[in-house]
Amino acid sequence: MKINILTLFPEFFSSFKNQSIIGRAVKNNLIEINVINIRDFCFDKHKQADDIPFGGEGGMVMKPEPLFRALEQCQGKVIYTSPQGVTFDQKLALDLKEESEITIIAGHYEGIDERVVTEKVDMEISIGDYVLTGGEIPAMVIVDTISRLIPGVIKKSSYENDSFFNGLLDYPQYTRPAEYKGLKVPDVLISGNHKKIKEWRIKESLKRTYLRRPDLLKNKKLNDLEKKLLDKVILELKNN
Ligand code: SAM
Repeated sequence: MKINILTLFPEFFSSFKNQSIIGRAVKNNLIEINVINIRDFCFDKHKQADDIPFGGEGGMVMKPEPLFRALEQCQGKVIYTSPQGVTFDQKLALDLKEESEITIIAGHYEGIDERVVTEKVDMEISIGDYVLTGGEIPAMVIVDTISRLIPGVIKKSSYENDSFFNGLLDYPQYTRPAEYKGLKVPDVLISGNHKKIKEWRIKESLKRTYLRRPDLLKNKKLNDLEKKLLDKVILELKNN
């Protein structure tokens, strides 16, 4: 998958592109992250990418011409990172990972000229109800989330149990040592009984979701085992 990122601050991405799982995915050609400096498409003497807003008031607005020109180099869906967009979630990430090429515009200042939005943008995506200084961090959030879902980037079994993938939160994780300063990992996890471990994980997953994100359970179709385990969780919580 090719991901173009249009930004005024390409340096933001130099480390991001080369580190850890994303770095490996880039090296292995599983994803291509093409960072495009919007200023390279500013053809005036001062390479001015922003200007004062029509109608007055403070702040600056990113000019349309450099963005229109930069977008000529890009194929596929165009996404504008914006607090006014649809809220990014795992479902949207799963949809986007199916695309062969996407382009993400990172805004700055008061945002980008609305003509770019109406003429070129297919989708506005927000990463939450708050306002950041720029769209570089939202772009990284989107790229990171999509990348780990692309086949070969990480093991399928790693993300299939993650929170939200199946509509539930993940179960608690433990690693060695089995006991640290008197703190023990649950016995079942060292029992070697895989059926019991699986059941414990489903139950803990349901318990966390019930306690922390009951809204998720409203949209989740539970199978018979999950229903039985959730009833057990609710009963246990009532009795404690
Ligand atoms: N004036 C804009 C508004 O109120 O909708 C906010 C502009 S913000 C200071 C500058 C840029 O940061 C935006 O153009 C957008 O690209 C990015 N940004 C800020 N908050 C964001 C969020 N929650 N999700 C996605 N992008 C965001």
